[in-house]
Amino acid sequence: MYQIGEYEGQRYVGESDRAVVHDTWHPECEDCLVEDMVGRGVAVGFEPDDLEQALWEGFEYCEYCFDRASPVAPHRKVGLERVSRG
Ligand SMILES: [Zn+2]
Ligand SMILES: [Zn+2]
Repeated sequence: MYQIGEYEGQRYVGESDRAVVHDTWHPECEDCLVEDMVGRGVAVGFEPDDLEQALWEGFEYCEYCFDRASPVAPHRKVGLERVSRG
């Protein structure tokens, strides 16, 4: 577990003051205010970034994030658009 100083697309984000883990992949996860958690300094990430690791470290499911089916991975643009033409 490590503190998230700047949100970088981690799937599972722990809220350390409530010991709740959020799954940021589901739609409308903005309601969980992940950016706000980061701002308050209570957002933590997991290494590796998976749910078992979060639970193992003592976090409980966020009711809002986990009462639905597994979300589909969002599209990400990391590292794929760096082809330089020269
Ligand atoms: Zn949540
Ligand atoms: Zn959520």
